[in-house]
Parts: sequence; C-alpha cells; structure tokens
Amino acid sequence: MPLDVEIVTPDRIILQAQVDELNVPSDWGYIGILPGHTPLLTILGQGELMYRQNTAQHYMSLFWGYMEVNDDKVIILAEVAEPDAEIDRARAESARDRAEDRLRRIHESDIDFERARGALMRAMIRLQASSHAM
Ligand code: ATP
Repeated sequence: MPLDVEIVTPDRIILQAQVDELNVPSDWGYIGILPGHTPLLTILGQGELMYRQNTAQHYMSLFWGYMEVNDDKVIILAEVAEPDAEIDRARAESARDRAEDRLRRIHESDIDFERARGALMRAMIRLQASSHAM
C-alpha cells in the first residue's frame, strides 16, 4: 500500500498523491519514508524533496515546515515548496551570482553575511531541485 501524501503551503495545496517513497530534508539531514514507517512528527529544514511514484522520481525545493507521518498518511506543512517545473532557473542563477558577489565582498561593512549565505543556499537548492527536470 502506498503512502498518502499531502504537501501544503500557506497559499495552496502543492501535492496530494499516492506515493511509493518520500525523501525529505529534516533539520539535521535527509529522512527517507517508505510505507509502514513508524509514526513521526518532525521539523523540516531546507533542501530538495523527492517523491517516487512507481519508477518516476519527482523533485521540489522545500524551505522549512513540519511533517507528520502516521499510518501511511504523510502531511507536510511547508513555508515554501516549489515543484521543479515551477522553478525559474535564470532567477535562481541571478540570486546565486548576487549572493556569491556579496560573499566575496564580505569585508565591506554593509554586507550581511547571514543574509547572503541564506540567499546562496536557497538559490543552490532551487538549481539542484530543478536540474532533474532539464
Ligand atoms: P530572489 O532573490 O530571486 O527573490 P529569494 O531566495 O530571496 O530569491 P525567497 O524570499 O526565498 O526568494 O522567495 C520569495 C518568493 O519567490 C517565494 O514565493 C518563492 O517561491 C519565489 N521564488 C524565489 N525564487 C524563485 C525561483 N527561482 N523560481 C520560482 N520561484 C521563486
């Protein structure tokens, strides 16, 4: 029996589907979920989410949220989740270049390191998640 997966953001339902396998970014590393998984409630971090239906793997970028697994039902409440086909690679590349440029100029007093690092991380995750759809 497959997993019954629902991924929602504050705006909309991103996915409602039967899934054979799920791989999600937790705050401390990736967690794989297969049917029959033990009940779990966890905080999600940022990274690439993969779900597999039969032999087809699908990807999205995910930024923060919660996941509940119970009795083969998975509910993910995400702050941001972007299916690979919806990711604008040119925008992510510009964001990456801007962030890298800021990090190169980090000795200049008006550069916010954490902000630039966060932007670079988001851009890299988007590029990674969308690379499968190319
Ligand atoms: P940018 O500098 O390009 O705005 P960002 O990392 O600062 O990138 P966020 O604040 O993470 O952007 O996201 C703001 C909104 O824009 C979110 O709704 C997010 O889904 C969307 N978004 C950001 N980058 C992309 C992208 N490359 N493709 C599609 N949607 C994106």
